[in-house]
Amino acid sequence: MKAVLYARVSSKEQEKEGYSIPAQIKHCREYADKKGYQIVSEYIDVESAKRAGRTNFNRMIKHIRSDKNIQAIICHKVDRLCRNFRDYVTVDELNIKPMFVEEEFPDNAAGKLTFGMKVLLAKHYIDNLSDETKKGLNEKVEQGIWASRAPIGYQNNKTTHMIDIDPALAPVITKAFELYSTAGISLRELAKRLNAEFAHVMNGRSKFSKTHLERILKNPFYHGWFRWKGHLYRGSHEPAVTKELFDRVQSIFEMKNKPKTHRHEFAFGGLMTCGKCGCAITAEIHKAKYIYYHCTGSKGACDSAYIREQQLEPQFQQIVEGISIDRETAEWLLTVLKSSHDEEKEYHKSETRRLHREYARLQGLIDKAYEDYLSGVTDRAFWQDITAKWRNRQTTLQARMDRLNRANRSYLENASRIIELAQSAGRLYVKQPAAEKRKFLGVLLSNCILDGVMLYPTYRRPFDLIAEGVKTEKWGG
Ligand SMILES: [Zn+2]
Repeated sequence: MKAVLYARVSSKEQEKEGYSIPAQIKHCREYADKKGYQIVSEYIDVESAKRAGRTNFNRMIKHIRSDKNIQAIICHKVDRLCRNFRDYVTVDELNIKPMFVEEEFPDNAAGKLTFGMKVLLAKHYIDNLSDETKKGLNEKVEQGIWASRAPIGYQNNKTTHMIDIDPALAPVITKAFELYSTAGISLRELAKRLNAEFAHVMNGRSKFSKTHLERILKNPFYHGWFRWKGHLYRGSHEPAVTKELFDRVQSIFEMKNKPKTHRHEFAFGGLMTCGKCGCAITAEIHKAKYIYYHCTGSKGACDSAYIREQQLEPQFQQIVEGISIDRETAEWLLTVLKSSHDEEKEYHKSETRRLHREYARLQGLIDKAYEDYLSGVTDRAFWQDITAKWRNRQTTLQARMDRLNRANRSYLENASRIIELAQSAGRLYVKQPAAEKRKFLGVLLSNCILDGVMLYPTYRRPFDLIAEGVKTEKWGG
């Protein structure tokens, strides 16, 4: 197995014991030997006050990307490899194993979790900013233009790239809101009525169904807003209904949902797939009290057995306990994450500074262009054209600064929530009603395979890492 070695030291650290480059290299080489890795290249960065860059870190990343045989980076400690926030994501995306000779806690599961949590949070943060990759889309979104297929009642204008009202179907949507706002009609009846009344304008579209209508009636798009990545934006499109009408419809949904308790909520519905054929596992109730789970068999008959809910219950309980950590571990994790938060704060500061600088630079250009126009150097059309471009860019920058602030706020909040959840999972879970259990499990698990009577869970990040740590029961502290 092939690996690269990475060592880094800053001038400030050089005096400290154990931080010297020769010491790091020695430890890494020994570790590689012990684990059966052959080191093919060694990369070393020595930072001074004058030279802050990490030339060799970048060279190493390039090397790993171009050589599929390299399976690991061996490093003395996490903080040697990842100096700033973005490094975690960079390393994670290499899809190789980062290995650390020594962690604050000697156990490997804890080291992996530290790394995994940091990657997760860094990703979450960067996703929140979602800059470069989806820049085009976001720019549109920030200008209030829905960047996807227009919902029914609207059309994507292929020339202007804006969203226009669909003159044939918009009245149908308005009618739907109006009818439903009177509360006397069910979604099923509404669908029936619309399908009968407006068949002539549907133009080959599928008929309205109950669920489709519910989606429409709850979509803020129709009163001029839209949701994008969890945030609500004011759209530039023409509203199909007023905000008042939209709100009235929402309050009717709330009213109607309240007394609906007779429908049975299955605790484990939608969480499992069949180990034999891969189909979903569904639930049904027998004689009004016995709950059975079984394969839907939608890919063809499947002979996997029916299983009683009581048989699953203790297994799910165990799955939840699989991520329960004690107070000490929780506190340790929080410390780790707080240090990660400091890195993030630094990133935040420099990023904000960069954006402000760019904004000011554009303002300078705008002012200069105006002077040029006034003094007759350029003509009016040119001045207007170029100023509009720069102003546009400024709007985008402003929106990015807003996003940056939003991401900053949610960062530690998310981290603490995850830890809190892991700490109290087992205790919380037992007390929950079926519907809440389901939600809870949905947060923890991406899937669960039911093979015969046995459950095999797949935890979501970072719970998979926590589960691994709990399993080995060798947490530091
Ligand atoms: Zn099956």
